[in-house]
Amino acid sequence: MIKRKRNFYAEWRLRDRQAQALQEGKGTPAEDLLQIVWFHQRLLRDQLRTLDGRRLIILHPGFWSHEGGPDFRNAIVQFDSEKPISGDIEVDLHASGWRAHGHDRNSNFKNVILHVVWEGEGTRNLPTLALKNVLDSSVPELLGWMGTDASRAFPAELQGKCCAPLRDLSEERLTELLQQAARVRLEAKARQFEVRARQAGWEQALWEGLFRGLGYKHNTWPMLRLAEMRTRLFPEGSPGDPVQVQARLLGTAGLLPHEVGGRTYARELWDFWWRERAAFEDCALPRAVWHLHGLRPANHPQRRLALAANWLTQRTLIGALETWCADRNLEGCEARLLDALQVRPDPFWNWHWTLRSKKLKSSQPLLGATRVTDLAVNVVLPWLWMRAVEGKNEAVREEMERRYFAWPAAEDNAMLRLARQRLLGTTSKKLLRFAAAQQGLLQIVRDFCEHSDALCANCQFPELVRNWLG
Ligand code: SF4
Repeated sequence: MIKRKRNFYAEWRLRDRQAQALQEGKGTPAEDLLQIVWFHQRLLRDQLRTLDGRRLIILHPGFWSHEGGPDFRNAIVQFDSEKPISGDIEVDLHASGWRAHGHDRNSNFKNVILHVVWEGEGTRNLPTLALKNVLDSSVPELLGWMGTDASRAFPAELQGKCCAPLRDLSEERLTELLQQAARVRLEAKARQFEVRARQAGWEQALWEGLFRGLGYKHNTWPMLRLAEMRTRLFPEGSPGDPVQVQARLLGTAGLLPHEVGGRTYARELWDFWWRERAAFEDCALPRAVWHLHGLRPANHPQRRLALAANWLTQRTLIGALETWCADRNLEGCEARLLDALQVRPDPFWNWHWTLRSKKLKSSQPLLGATRVTDLAVNVVLPWLWMRAVEGKNEAVREEMERRYFAWPAAEDNAMLRLARQRLLGTTSKKLLRFAAAQQGLLQIVRDFCEHSDALCANCQFPELVRNWLG
């Protein structure tokens, strides 16, 4: 047997990991070790049984979600010889965490099919797996592995079946594929505008797109509803006072705080809303329709509606977008769009993220460059493109396409990260330098991944890529 030289640094590291990961006195590993063990399946996989005694086969552990809700999405598991089922996995130290953390009352957890815990009693009405006796290595060994690059990498077994053929494509061909998919996405979004414009006019279709865009992914529906009521809330000739417009919009949205004391800005808004409330009661939204949990302060719907209220007050938006469209200079067009969509400094909102937050140390504009990219690729460019197609204006159509394909990448997000790792087998953002490439990748996810499962069952995409590769 080879005698290894003692490595004091390795011992320090291990001691530190143990101290961090083991809860004092209880000898229970921290939850992140359990999650990483589950993700990499560092388990005696052929010996798994639920606490109620059923044999458990993990066909896919699911994709780690860092967005709130269950820890792993779209797992596939089989109990005894039943048909495999697909759903989410929640990892908690103790089975009691299910109720203690409110998962039993949270609709985001309704698709959980397995509760994974360290040890203990089962979770009522939910199959539960205890990890303590089925780890493939001792806890100290796993703690040592946890800090390595291997433990942080996306497991190769979770890559999609298309990953290999996509890797065989040259960078040029992959870019071409992503651009073609992006074009499909651009045209699909543009068609939505066309359909809505036929019913409500181009201007209303744009407002609805902008409001939806401000809702990001969690609050698109209530935002859309407010946009649909735009002419009811703000008929021609209605007041142009910015505070009154904000009060009406936030009041109808159900987003004004109930308790307001002293001389606060919320109180100022209420002073308007008290007087108008009854007139808009029939169309007011319940606060419960908003998804507010886990949002970044800059994405809070109160702030987004303050921006929309400023657009509505200033009444220059459509003209500014038309001027931007007519300027044929590609260079600097992103900054010019930001100027077109930017609103005048707001004495309250430039200094506060939300109605309740403390005063900021530095002023923050209501619209940042990141949001402008999202609004450009999802709303402004598809809307202008479709209007050009309708008006048979080839020059404008081509110009909008040129801008769409040259637009720099949007901010990274969880969906893009997963798609990069699963489909392209990389964490690098190099291939997705342009927003259109990101849009193309998301379109492939929409068209293929969302019609398949975590094991890529019946997905035609790998074969299509191989055939294209020739
Ligand atoms: S479902 Fe299809 S497109 Fe998605 S990762 Fe699997 S093979 Fe690729």
